[in-house]
Amino acid sequence: MFDKILIANRGEIALRVIRAAREMGIKTVAVHSTADSDAMHVRMADESVCIGPPPSPQSYLSVPAIISACEITGAQAIHPGYGFLSENAEFVQIVEDHGITFIGPTAEHIRVMGDKITAKDTMKELGVPCVPGSDGGVPDLASARKIGEEFGYPVIIKATAGGGGRGMKVAMNADEMESAFMTARAEGKSNFGNDEVYIEKYLTTPRHIEIQVFGDGKGKAVHLGERDCSLQRRHQKVFEEAPGPTITPQERAKIGKVCADAVAKINYIGAGTIEFLYENGEFYFIEMNTRLQVEHPVTEGIFGVDLVREQILVAAGEQMSFGQDDLRINGHSIEVRINAEKLPNFSPCPGKITAFHAPGGLGVRMDSALYDGYSIPPYYDSLIGKLIVQGRDRDEALARLNRALGELIVDGIDTTVPLFHALLQEDDIHSGDYNIHWLEHWLAENMEQ
Ligand code: ADP
Repeated sequence: MFDKILIANRGEIALRVIRAAREMGIKTVAVHSTADSDAMHVRMADESVCIGPPPSPQSYLSVPAIISACEITGAQAIHPGYGFLSENAEFVQIVEDHGITFIGPTAEHIRVMGDKITAKDTMKELGVPCVPGSDGGVPDLASARKIGEEFGYPVIIKATAGGGGRGMKVAMNADEMESAFMTARAEGKSNFGNDEVYIEKYLTTPRHIEIQVFGDGKGKAVHLGERDCSLQRRHQKVFEEAPGPTITPQERAKIGKVCADAVAKINYIGAGTIEFLYENGEFYFIEMNTRLQVEHPVTEGIFGVDLVREQILVAAGEQMSFGQDDLRINGHSIEVRINAEKLPNFSPCPGKITAFHAPGGLGVRMDSALYDGYSIPPYYDSLIGKLIVQGRDRDEALARLNRALGELIVDGIDTTVPLFHALLQEDDIHSGDYNIHWLEHWLAENMEQ
């Protein structure tokens, strides 16, 4: 087992990894920009190294700075968290070339799944159901129009290198094709340096259901059921839960096995998520994330396993601590993302926290890097915390969420907490009756945007 690992990240996810490492008796190294000298992850780690100025390209994304920090401190492995360098195959290659272990999948798996066209082709071959669409890249507008006619509108044009909801445009009809096609291409080029796009049938009322998988890198893999992340704003998840309110045990077992078998076949190592749209009882693959996800705690809640600990175990060449038959769902778990954003427009709202109180009690978990007097810097993602609750069933989890939100105090800045208070008043939230568009409609009706 490693003596010391470095966490190439910040915020709540850096704390999450430090916590798992500490329970395993592993020392931790935090890295930070000059804007984060007072950040909680720096305080909680055993050691810390300043790796550059505030803008992330010069710090959290600076590969030479992170490798040097590893060498200076003698860290044997790097946990990337999510975001930043977590799905950067080139980074993984460089890490391995320096004799450091990357806590995550291989560079090759990241490369394959990072390119959405290759990912879809690979999944199709592995027997995973996909959204009908173009056979690979679509070179020009004329071909795009042809595909639109063939599959019928609406269609969605996606940049193969896209991510985080960027590089995707919907064409509702033939008239919208030109602008959607050109915009998706331009966004792919400017955000990801790749203008290749492909086209899919646009599903009008799907839910977002994703399957958590975990592989040992030696041909064994398990699934840990699904998460329903249908409540999204601009393709960004805001509320996630497990199990999915509409998924039956039979559906779970079936799609779960398809996913576990697929990743076992490619000797996948560590945590991964296979994302699907789900409509009329059918699953359609959209992408695979080759990392720990923001919403992993809801899965940890219902299965009682520590996914970060397992990531570290398999990266060190040890066995996973559970097999498929050890996994039993226990209750229901919900996570809400607390962002430093001002409603109704969700504009970023960094600043100084004048008072912070985390809720507690049975079935409440707060993953955040906040503390009284902390100043949220303006340079990074607006996610400042995740409130995760667990109940014996969905109703109990919702009641607990309501109670815990009431206890939470984050003063000094605006957050997305009022959104969740308002959502908990809605019958559709309690009945679980929504698809991926529900929240956008609700926001348009209930908050001026
Ligand atoms: P990203 O990598 O940017 O997150 P995804 O491919 O995972 O992109 O898609 C993100 C979201 O976009 C999905 O959760 C869904 O809301 C929407 N979406 C993607 N593909 C389709 C589709 N074929 N039909 C309808 N909605 C889609």
